[in-house]
Amino acid sequence: MQITCPNCHNIIPATDIVLEKDLAKCHECNEIWKLEELMKLQNSIQQYEPFPPAYGKIRMEEELDSGQVKIILPPKGFGLETIGLGVFTTFWLGFISFWTWGASQASLLFAAFSIPFWLVGIGMAGLLLNNIIGSQSIVIKDGKIEVRKDFFPFPKRFSFFTPELRSIAFQKEEYRGFVLQNSKSQSNTTMKDSLVIKTETQKIVCFEGISTEEGEWLKQYLKEQSGLKQ
Ligand SMILES: [Zn+2]
Repeated sequence: MQITCPNCHNIIPATDIVLEKDLAKCHECNEIWKLEELMKLQNSIQQYEPFPPAYGKIRMEEELDSGQVKIILPPKGFGLETIGLGVFTTFWLGFISFWTWGASQASLLFAAFSIPFWLVGIGMAGLLLNNIIGSQSIVIKDGKIEVRKDFFPFPKRFSFFTPELRSIAFQKEEYRGFVLQNSKSQSNTTMKDSLVIKTETQKIVCFEGISTEEGEWLKQYLKEQSGLKQ
């Protein structure tokens, strides 16, 4: 049985486990754990559960006639993050419009300096829209798995047959987005807990930002559905 760090989800190798002292150290994030507690946690999450955790974001739809199962991560909706982003985006676009209009009175070339700021504004507006309507899902049917990222304006689909599957992990992955910091918006790379599916030819990173409980459930569920032993 592999021991994974509950903090960063990396595998803790046997050489970093001291059985006599009941300790395990994760060299990725320098966290020290009690081995007994790790084992308890691991056992509770490695048991196969047919339904997603009750109080999470993930939903499941089963079609009994066709045997299709769809696991859905709904849009973020109108939470604090979306409202904050909405206020900021409105302010940003308003200010850029005003500035561009003023600059265009002087010269069009001068006004063209605003182009990068427009691009950032459009990026934020896109993110805002996808917070409201963008969703992700995993569709399982007849031995085929399809990951759908329904984001405007570029939805993505990744599909494969279960024998092509090599590994499924729940781990921190680089995530590019906008971060509001000191009333400035920056395009920025952060690490987010994500589901990482590897097949012979693809690496699919999806369901970013779900809870550890949901991520571990999804990992176990997909392994069970695809017959992947790991
Ligand atoms: Zn760690």
